[in-house]
Amino acid sequence: MIDFLKKIINIIKNLFEKRDNNDLIITEKIESKNEFKSNMKILIDNGHGVNTLGKRSPYSASGAMPAIPFFEYKWNREIAEKVVEKLIELGYDAELIVNEIEDIPLEIRAIRVNNMCDILGKDNVILISIHSNACGDGSKWEKGAGWEAYTSIGNTKSDKLAEVFYKKAKEFFSDRKIRYDWSDGDCDKEASFYIIKHTKCPAILTENFFYDNIDDVQFILSDEGREKIIKLHVDSIIEYLNS
Ligand SMILES: [Zn+2]
Repeated sequence: MIDFLKKIINIIKNLFEKRDNNDLIITEKIESKNEFKSNMKILIDNGHGVNTLGKRSPYSASGAMPAIPFFEYKWNREIAEKVVEKLIELGYDAELIVNEIEDIPLEIRAIRVNNMCDILGKDNVILISIHSNACGDGSKWEKGAGWEAYTSIGNTKSDKLAEVFYKKAKEFFSDRKIRYDWSDGDCDKEASFYIIKHTKCPAILTENFFYDNIDDVQFILSDEGREKIIKLHVDSIIEYLNS
């Protein structure tokens, strides 16, 4: 009970601290807005944190399983940073919503995004949350494989963003599995992930292959895999902004 109360107090404390930080960032960005090629604010989320339990490839010290250490928080951050770096280099207004190495609660991530939506207008912001997938409990290598993207439930502007990503993913990963959910007529999978459900702007969550599949994890840890995933995000975002 005391732990629970401490957690709530921390969330509230964090919330106010982050609001102050965000206001500063927003003021700076509005002043330099006309330097960018597009008015759209591109927010990139990097799932989880160094303190998140699990979210890593199966690992056995005994050597019974091939040990390919993969930590999702770390990989997400590396990819997210490069996507932001590249977009800025190309003249777009991109920013990470989580600069911390620790996990930031989803409620606070959503507040950071929604603060930006309130100031700039929700149609002038997009959010892409970068993740890697898993289908087991981390005790062994699994067979689930492939790339997929999620949008919030219902037909929203996020669908259009996801469609561009799927189109590019098919081009970039023609020799790998792309996972579809055609049940509602869209190619994107739909789910109630907090970060895409509770943010006001068009938002998608990309699951970039499976870290508990040997072939997939080797691919996403390779230079070729990383470069393709970074380029997929950068090219898809730019195509969406120009469409
Ligand atoms: Zn994740």
